[in-house]
Amino acid sequence: MDASTAPTVEEFAQECRDFLEARYPRRRQERKRFSWGEGSDRVAVFEEADREAEQVVIANVRAWRRALWDNGLGWITGPVELGGRDLRKGYQQTFDAMVRDYEVPGNAPLTVSLGMIAPTIQAHAVPEVRDRYVPALHNGDLIACQLFSEPGAGSDLAGVGASATRDGDGWRLTGQKVWTSGAHYSDIGEILCRTSPGPRHKNLTMFVVDLRAKGVEIRPLRQMTGGAAFNEIFFDDVWVPDDHRLGEVGEGWRVAMTTLLNERNAIGGEGFGGSGLLDIERYKAMVRHFGLASDPVTRQRLATLYMNLRIAKMTRQRAGAKLAAGQVPGPEASLGKLVLAQNYLRISDLVGSILGPRLLADDGEWGTYAWTNVVLGVPGYRIGGGTDEVLRNILGERVLGLPREPEVPR
Ligand SMILES: Cc1cc2nc3c(=O)[nH]c(=O)nc-3n(C[C@H](O)[C@H](O)[C@H](O)COP(=O)(O)OP(=O)(O)OC[C@H]3O[C@@H](n4cnc5c(N)ncnc54)[C@H](O)[C@@H]3O)c2cc1C
Repeated sequence: MDASTAPTVEEFAQECRDFLEARYPRRRQERKRFSWGEGSDRVAVFEEADREAEQVVIANVRAWRRALWDNGLGWITGPVELGGRDLRKGYQQTFDAMVRDYEVPGNAPLTVSLGMIAPTIQAHAVPEVRDRYVPALHNGDLIACQLFSEPGAGSDLAGVGASATRDGDGWRLTGQKVWTSGAHYSDIGEILCRTSPGPRHKNLTMFVVDLRAKGVEIRPLRQMTGGAAFNEIFFDDVWVPDDHRLGEVGEGWRVAMTTLLNERNAIGGEGFGGSGLLDIERYKAMVRHFGLASDPVTRQRLATLYMNLRIAKMTRQRAGAKLAAGQVPGPEASLGKLVLAQNYLRISDLVGSILGPRLLADDGEWGTYAWTNVVLGVPGYRIGGGTDEVLRNILGERVLGLPREPEVPR
């Protein structure tokens, strides 16, 4: 937006305050210091509700997006022609900082939809499809999921087997996708398919598929935390019009890269992972409560965690400052997801070593069995959005310029 017509940051902050005050209760002032035994002991890497409760959550999230959209706050940095406000990232940061003081439904179930699929459709769809879907994803009318992984194609994404075959002015999709987060409450999906037998990376094409179309079957998958945030999806001769293709035929790999780059930003950010997991006070209090404050091994683990949480925070701040100044964050942005995964692992190891058998049976003691959810959730975070090993390869090769991994002959 033209700087002369944009609101000042102060005016914008007042606008946000008016919007929030009129609709949402203020968050109760939390105690400055975490105090052992007080309040809820619920902790989680992934927020998981049962599917009935989840429907209520999703309805509230959609209503929240609609209210934001109708009041000019639904896409603060987005282009005006797609319904955005076209303001600098600093305005978004102002809003994000203010919203933390209010009890709002938030965007957590839309991490994939808004953080990954909307930018990909914006970048690669034909104008009619872009104009139809991108505003609808931002205002909560539609939710999208990512249909990349298959039983035989995860890290090795170029090995996807789901096929799309030309049929008149459209395509027929057949195959299976798996580990699809949130598909059961999504309306559309971004699906990577093989469209020719040609060389890997060159035979793939990306589409937007309607998940309510004939021939789509979504089955829940329960993970070891007990929740069922994942699904496996079967496509049996599903019709997709050609204008729902993202990018050129055979250019699906390039489109997938847009999504994956956005994925690492979306899930490696400060906001991911609920319930104050990154608050070191929790772990200091736990160590004291169990009488381990003088134990050298526990102290060493706690100090290592403290240092790494501080380093991660500073790195995020550096990337945020660059973004706010209109610069492109460099290695800081690539590090986010891996660093967060490693810190979750440190947390899981520390908590596991303190709580031991208390993680196995719930005897009602505050702040003990509740951590089972985190210990069982951390491995999933280390896999989704690129495994630790794959992210290390990417950092080594693309950021540090180290020699490429030897290719395994196929
Ligand atoms: C919480 C979560 C959410 C997810 N959500 C989605 C979703 O919404 N949509 C979707 O499409 N997928 C989703 N996935 C799937 C995810 O993208 C894949 O699980 C991931 O890409 C790994 O693939 P894989 O499970 O087939 O494991 P594999 O690729 O078979 O990996 C097995 C092991 O081999 C290692 N490995 C593989 N290749 C290399 C290499 N080149 N160098 C070194 N080590 C290697 C891996 O690090 C891993 O330890 C999700 C997964 C999780 C856990």
